[in-house]
Amino acid sequence: MDQENRNKNASQKSGGRSRSSQRGKRRGGRGGSNKRYYSECPICGKGVRDLLTAVAWGDERKPSHFDCVLKAIADQEDVQGKEKVVYLGAGSFGIVKFRSGTGSSPRFTVRKRVQLEEKEEKLDWRKKVSRDIR
Ligand SMILES: [Zn+2]
Repeated sequence: MDQENRNKNASQKSGGRSRSSQRGKRRGGRGGSNKRYYSECPICGKGVRDLLTAVAWGDERKPSHFDCVLKAIADQEDVQGKEKVVYLGAGSFGIVKFRSGTGSSPRFTVRKRVQLEEKEEKLDWRKKVSRDIR
């Protein structure tokens, strides 16, 4: 008697398990109205997923990959061998020139500043991101 009961329980458990994995596969299939803001990088043409690091580029101020913008500025400004494009902060980039100076700290001068975003500029796509975070 005792043993029969145990067998029953065991078979019931294993029988109920196999179906559960079928659920939960139909997510995100709604599409349409509640689309996330998603844009193509005007420089490389690929989608920009991370709008937090995206930079407004071009006449249309579209979100672009940070790395693409660095390259685009380098192309545009004819960056030389010892120069590098860096992000200076507050929406501006700079072409900096490194000097192999004496001492421990690397020395560089900003040859040119490239201001891409004005401080006061309100970008539509960026507003949406900050709303998402809050
Ligand atoms: Zn890109």
